[in-house]
Amino acid sequence: MEIETIKKDDINLRLLIRGADIPFINALRRIILSEVPCMAIDEVVIIENSSILQDEIIAHRLGLIPLKTDLDSYNLPEECPCKSEFGCNLCRVSLTLDTEAKEGTRTVYSGELVSENPDIVPVSDNIPLLKLAKEQNLKLEAYARLGKGKNHAKWQPVSTCTYKYFPQIKIGKQCNACGKCVEICPKKVLTKVGGKLEIRDLMACTLCQDCMDVCPIKPPAIEVSWKEDTFIFNLESTGVLSPERIVRTAVKILNEQLKEFMGQVKVKKSGKD
Ligand code: SF4
Ligand code: SF4
Ligand SMILES: [Zn+2]
Repeated sequence: MEIETIKKDDINLRLLIRGADIPFINALRRIILSEVPCMAIDEVVIIENSSILQDEIIAHRLGLIPLKTDLDSYNLPEECPCKSEFGCNLCRVSLTLDTEAKEGTRTVYSGELVSENPDIVPVSDNIPLLKLAKEQNLKLEAYARLGKGKNHAKWQPVSTCTYKYFPQIKIGKQCNACGKCVEICPKKVLTKVGGKLEIRDLMACTLCQDCMDVCPIKPPAIEVSWKEDTFIFNLESTGVLSPERIVRTAVKILNEQLKEFMGQVKVKKSGKD
């Protein structure tokens, strides 16, 4: 298998993966969505709440705030040696919020949460939590833990994780450059340069084949197909972990799961070999 990075920044990663197949690529995608752990608020103790929002709604909103995650310093609660339902410093982070609307109505944002660990804080300070009217207040303590997306979407480290086949586009000699395929293409993959049809952005092609359907020449002068063993793999992190860390962790988990599977496969020898 060959892997080439096409695009990479703090949040996005786009890979070109050659020599793979659908079961492998889909296993990687599903592990990223459901098995790669990240931090999220899991328990909230409301000390004072004079806002119009019920405690449960505030707790739910707190749970959905993406928190920067440190996978090296914290354990999943079920794997932590403390074996305590309350947790310890290795499996739980405490965050507090103590806020009041003294002057008049105001919005409380995620940035007002104070964490005991400066590395485990909201990815963004600008997520609105609720509005407080004059003299209303909110005081609470929240506990964040590592968890997995298969148990709740708040523990999913990505907002999107997708793959598609690598497209192949062939333009035949019979093309008269009428431009109909250029107009219909929803992704602006094609362009006309100097009276000739050219491919402008192959990666953007969604394989919809509208360009083939619209071509007035029969059979179409443009042919769209895909490579069976080559994929464009895309992921967008919520900001809790770097995209590379998410992929590396997913590959490690997949390896462990395969090892466990192989350990459970018992080969019954026929006696002939
Ligand atoms: S629609 Fe057909 S003939 Fe017209 S530019 Fe596209 S490929 Fe060429
Ligand atoms: S298959 Fe669809 S996206 Fe790809 S070039 Fe044709 S019209 Fe554009
Ligand atoms: Zn613990």
